[in-house]
Amino acid sequence: MISYEKARQLVLSEARPGGKEKIKLEKALGLVAARDIIARFPLPPFTNSAVDGYALRSMETIKEENFNYPVSLKLLAQQRAGTYFSGRLKPGTALKVMTGSPIPKGADAVIPREEVEEKEGHIFIKRAVKAGENIRLAGEDVKKGQKIVDSGTVLRPAHLGLLAACGQYEVWVYRRPTVFVLVTGDELCPPGESLKKGMIYDSNSFLIRALVETTGARLMAVKRVKDHLTSLVAGLKEAVAKANIIITSGGVSVGDYDLVKVALEKIGAKCVFWKVAQKPAKPLAFYKLKQNKERAYFFGLPGNPGAVFVSFEEYVRPFIKKMMGRKDYLPQEIEATLTHPIKKKRGRLNFFRVKLQLEGGEWLATSAGAQESGILSSLKEIHGLALIPAETEFLEEGTKIKVHLIEN
Ligand code: AMP
Ligand code: MG
Repeated sequence: MISYEKARQLVLSEARPGGKEKIKLEKALGLVAARDIIARFPLPPFTNSAVDGYALRSMETIKEENFNYPVSLKLLAQQRAGTYFSGRLKPGTALKVMTGSPIPKGADAVIPREEVEEKEGHIFIKRAVKAGENIRLAGEDVKKGQKIVDSGTVLRPAHLGLLAACGQYEVWVYRRPTVFVLVTGDELCPPGESLKKGMIYDSNSFLIRALVETTGARLMAVKRVKDHLTSLVAGLKEAVAKANIIITSGGVSVGDYDLVKVALEKIGAKCVFWKVAQKPAKPLAFYKLKQNKERAYFFGLPGNPGAVFVSFEEYVRPFIKKMMGRKDYLPQEIEATLTHPIKKKRGRLNFFRVKLQLEGGEWLATSAGAQESGILSSLKEIHGLALIPAETEFLEEGTKIKVHLIEN
């Protein structure tokens, strides 16, 4: 049995960002930019109005102290956003503009519509307008040639908006890893069918599918297989043909029908580790297979839902994130104060389900309920997994503990 630290190091040392590919902007959310991106156009592309109003020469509204406003200007044709007035604004005139309309040559300010009276082809202005008022300058947001996204950046909605605004429609990203899920167990019944005696509804298919979907990896399939060696081998072979990350659930423990490891060895996969000094998910298995130039990785998760959840958050998610080119692949860790004592057995690191609350700038951690690995209901309550070290037997109320924040 190896330690959690060692196991996670072994997993992460195998994860390398995949190839790079150019994809459409609308497919890029959550992926990692694989190249620096340079703006090919300035933003905004031309100087334009920030309001609906009238473009004018500010000088013509600036008068000596005792001048009796309004100033009157002759109104030229109206201009809608998306059209272009190519002429020059002559002295004594103004152009009606909408938000985003280009500012004609000669004009240097826009007065908002609400402040102006328009009558018989003229507008009447009751105050001095400053040069630059309500004008958005070409390139004030982004200059042409400026770097707008660094290689390694996770593309969020704002990045995609910015890239589109600068005329970009494709982007180089790290390829999404592909994932295949195999759920094992003769006792499993799909929800929606009637439950025979001794059977249980298969929840891991749904739990793992949803977990994978929150990572941005490409889920190829989720399949249920029986605890028979031939079915398992066939399932694994199909998975390897379709994906580079294979997640299995159940069948990695020491029961009579725990055949996942046997099947993995049958297809030629090598054991990196099996069994970790942790609770839950002690029988976690990690295998790899090299075929030609392709590599496949196998996470053999124990069947209990609590073990599935913890193994996914602590091992599979960081692995997928690193494969996707993310530098922030580890769970976010905070320090919190326990609001009650905790007792545990010595020997295994415990992942303890907690709720978190911020009080006076300090995180307080409280048990989210039952901690047994078969329990599902308290999982939905949690904000984090507290890491209670292997050698600890008792923690007093008020002890500072490490907590990994849950991302899903
Ligand atoms: P195993 O790791 O196969 O020994 O399974 C451990 C426990 O998890 C057993 O109680 C199984 O019935 C349960 N289990 C296994 N697979 C699933 C699943 N897909 N959905 C719900 N429970 C499961
Ligand atoms: Mg089983």
